[in-house]
Amino acid sequence: MTDWRSSPFDPVEDDDKLKEECGVFGVVGVSSAANFTALGLHALQHRGQEAGGIVVHDPEQGFNTVRRFGYVRDNFTQQDVMDMLPGPIGIGHVRYSTSGSKGATAIRDVQPFFGEFAMGGAAIAHNGNITNADSLRRELIERGSIFQSSSDSECIIHLMARSLQRNIPERMKDALRRVEGAFSVVAMTRTKLIGVRDPLGVRPLVLGKVGDGWVLSSETCALDIIGAEFIREVEPGEMVVISEKDGIVSHRPFEAKKPRFCIFEHVYFSRPDSILGGQSVYSTRENIGRELAKEAPVDADLVCPVPDSGTPAAIGYSLESGIPYAMGIIRNQYMGRTFIEPSESIRNMGVRLKLNVNRALVRGKRIILVDDSVVRGTTSHKIKEMILEAGAAEVHFRIASPPTAWPCFYGVDTPQREKLLAATMSTEEMREHLGVDSLKFISLDGLYRAVGEAKGRDPASPQYCDACFSGDYPVEPSDQIHKGFQLKAAE
Ligand code: SF4
Repeated sequence: MTDWRSSPFDPVEDDDKLKEECGVFGVVGVSSAANFTALGLHALQHRGQEAGGIVVHDPEQGFNTVRRFGYVRDNFTQQDVMDMLPGPIGIGHVRYSTSGSKGATAIRDVQPFFGEFAMGGAAIAHNGNITNADSLRRELIERGSIFQSSSDSECIIHLMARSLQRNIPERMKDALRRVEGAFSVVAMTRTKLIGVRDPLGVRPLVLGKVGDGWVLSSETCALDIIGAEFIREVEPGEMVVISEKDGIVSHRPFEAKKPRFCIFEHVYFSRPDSILGGQSVYSTRENIGRELAKEAPVDADLVCPVPDSGTPAAIGYSLESGIPYAMGIIRNQYMGRTFIEPSESIRNMGVRLKLNVNRALVRGKRIILVDDSVVRGTTSHKIKEMILEAGAAEVHFRIASPPTAWPCFYGVDTPQREKLLAATMSTEEMREHLGVDSLKFISLDGLYRAVGEAKGRDPASPQYCDACFSGDYPVEPSDQIHKGFQLKAAE
């Protein structure tokens, strides 16, 4: 896929964006699971660009794995690599580290993780974050587990090793009942593909069908690339065990809870061509723009997106307001890894390396700039300067998410709370800080309406996880609380 958001290899990495997460993919019952998995991971590359890995099983050659740093397209397209990965069943993972070592990641932290058990091997790939990983890890190490990585996800393998159950799916249930937080897990044995979502279903996981085979993926865009049919979402709290012999068997290993899917997947994380909750992500983003135009109208000449993630919301804002849409900022699509180790002077060019103002268009105009979020505010500030330098008469920021005032502990890399602009400033203070003519964020209720909740957010029992906006954490982040994190005081 095109690099429509910042990459860890990018020297002008956009610190005004939250970084998710990971992407997971698995397939069973096809002639070459590795080829399908590589394509699926390529479609999920926006969920993690740091590293990727594939594990397969072949009846003659057993389990094989390749784990590499960098993009899927650079690692899993070479014939010699793919020749090492034969077999009809496989899983894969793309990673942006949300736990474990950051920056200088070790290859030992790259998933999938593999464990050899008495009843055979199993591999797992995890998207999300385990909020009690520190205490689990301490306990497991005290009881003799030897960890190979610094990743929270490895706890699952060690908990499975300690279970007394007789088969891998049952051991996995035991393990995941001890785990708190957000997890969408894709796992495999020699013959079974397993998918599990945490009881709240915070992170996505979908089920698809390709020929006689079955697919699990973080998003539907990875089904499209291999020509698979979207069947349904794996439900919150559900485990599906899929084999060529038995087809799909659904289990409910956890106590039932009201789902709290991550609302930010709709705003930013998922690809616009994916389907979430039966709804096109692109249309939801357009709806967000429409809501924003209703809530925060302003007299102006042009609506321009901050590319590329602000584009559908800007189109929605333009359609609702009747103000023409235009590409006032152009993104250089070829930044990629060109400047992996830039000189200081190139680094100082910052956002200009990536975005350029369409001067002829903006000169003398009152511009509405639509972006998906403001995290630290640094990039918004630079963009505003570029637009004014190019001769714009006014700059009005409209943001397609509420102020991000709280960190995410469920698999998204967020700066510490004090680094989030909205944690320390009111909207008016942020407007002054950014130096723009006006600044408005969509309200939480407006965002809920845009994702299809006509009555907005139910404050007594919210329909989504929105903790990074509201401070209402659906799963207590116990490791963070031990480290001194202060939850929001009850109102
Ligand atoms: S805290 Fe925000 S980013 Fe994290 S899961 Fe909840 S809504 Fe998503």
